[in-house]
Parts: sequence; C-alpha cells; structure tokens
Amino acid sequence: MNLNVEHLSVSFANANIIKDVSLKVRNKQFVGLIGPNGCGKSTLLKSIYKVIKPSQGKVSLAEMNLMKSSPRLVAQKLGVVGQFNELSFDFTVREMVAMGRTPHKGMLETDNQEDANIVSAALHKVNLEGYADRSYNSLSGGEKQRVVLARVLAQQPEFMILDEPTNHLDIKYQLQILNIVKKLDIGILAALHDLTLAAEYCDYLYVMKKGQVAACGKPEDILTKELIGQVFDVACETYRNPVTGALGIAYLEAQ
Ligand code: ADP
Ligand code: MG
Repeated sequence: MNLNVEHLSVSFANANIIKDVSLKVRNKQFVGLIGPNGCGKSTLLKSIYKVIKPSQGKVSLAEMNLMKSSPRLVAQKLGVVGQFNELSFDFTVREMVAMGRTPHKGMLETDNQEDANIVSAALHKVNLEGYADRSYNSLSGGEKQRVVLARVLAQQPEFMILDEPTNHLDIKYQLQILNIVKKLDIGILAALHDLTLAAEYCDYLYVMKKGQVAACGKPEDILTKELIGQVFDVACETYRNPVTGALGIAYLEAQ
C-alpha cells in the first residue's frame, strides 16, 4: 500500500510552515522523516493524517484520497502514533487498546471474543500483559507510549504513521518499538529524532529543513557529515559500527 504526498503546503496565520513537500512511501517500505526541532515534521504528518488541513496538495494511500475520505474509512487502513499522548479522561489500559477496534465496528456493535483476543495479543506484543486493568493516566511516559502502540496494533492498519515514537523511552524499549513496527511488514512513515536509529531501521529517509525537503535517499547515501552539519548545525564524523557494520555518527562540538 503506497502513500503518495504531492506538493503539500501548510500555512498558519500567513506563515508557510510546509512548503511544497512531495514524498512517497512505496509498498512496505519503512521511511523516516528527520530534521531539527520546528522544521515541520509533526505538521507534515498531521496534515497527512487529517488533523491539519493543508492549503495545497494531495495525499493518497493506495487508491484512497485521504483528504476526501471519512476519518472512519481512513482509520480502517491507517494507524497513527502521535507525539503527545495525554488524556483528559481516565481509561484503563484495556479500554484504551480496545479503542483500536472502533473503526472496524458498526455503530452499535459491541466488542466480541475476537476483539478481546486481538487486544490481549497487542498488549502481549508491547510487554504490557499485566497492565490491562491499570489506569492509563497512572502510567509512565514510556508505558503510555507502548499502550498507544498496542492500540494501533489492535487497529490492524495497513499503513502506519509514527511521530517520534521512541521519545520517552529508554533504549531497550526504543529498539523494541522499532522492531515491532518493522516486523509488521506494512508501509511506515515515521518522524525519528535519533539519526543512528533512523539509519538502522529505515529503507529510505527524507530530511526536512524549514518546511522543505532538503534531501532524500537511502540512509547510507545521504547521512553524510556535510548534510548533517548543514541541516542540524553540528559537526560530526560518520563511521561504520565495528560490530554490526551499521552507519554510526560521532558528534563533535557544535559548530
Ligand atoms: P517538528 O515536529 O519538526 O519539531 P512542528 O511541525 O511541530 O515541527 O512545527 C513546525 C513549525 O510550525 C514550528 O515553527 C511551530 O511553531 C509551528 N506551528 C506548529 N503548529 C502550529 C500552529 N497550530 N499554529 C501556528 N504555528 C504552528
Ligand atoms: Mg514534532
């Protein structure tokens, strides 16, 4: 299932935050979106998942024009893990994860045994089996993040958007979340702040700066010290990890 973003622009109060961005996620690719704070990653993702209305452009997922489709239809195909996960009302973890089933249900249809099994399997996948009856608001930031991922897993989407999904997590759970997502074998578009993890997990990267795509390509082709210096304003050297062979980045002093 391909995601195709064409010439998307977003403005707030006459400020152009996203300027003519086009990007593609081809069948089952894991595509990363990187760039400094404030460059527009979240705004771009929100305009793809219909929270923000772009001033121009088109977004399609397979044959579906996302801008013209109902949220319910979109939610049957597209799962979203957003950046902030606070709730005003308290729900249990099980209730939160069960919300992932909603797009697949008729208006008065209640959850059945199959839904319950899907919810349990999702909690198991994120290592939160014992947490089903806990109140969501009582959880740590990292636990909340894993509940939100479980909810999206229960949704069984065919494409997933993640906005810095590993923000509150220690390294074990950062890797766990990225591994879970990668193994889903569906198309992924994820804003990631850790460039080394982005290089390791992504098939393809888009680098954003000031609301525009500054570069795109395979991680090993574009994550050069020149590009990182220019986009993130830090001096670094790249190297090969001696154990895994993966691309590594050693940050030197700020320029
Ligand atoms: P990133 O996710 O890359 O850190 P954001 O997309 O959150 O960047 O923000 C991009 C820019 O858009 C920032 O300058 C931010 O202040 C601005 N911005 C985001 N949301 C709004 C809004 N609702 N109204 C006005 N400006 C906004
Ligand atoms: Mg953001």
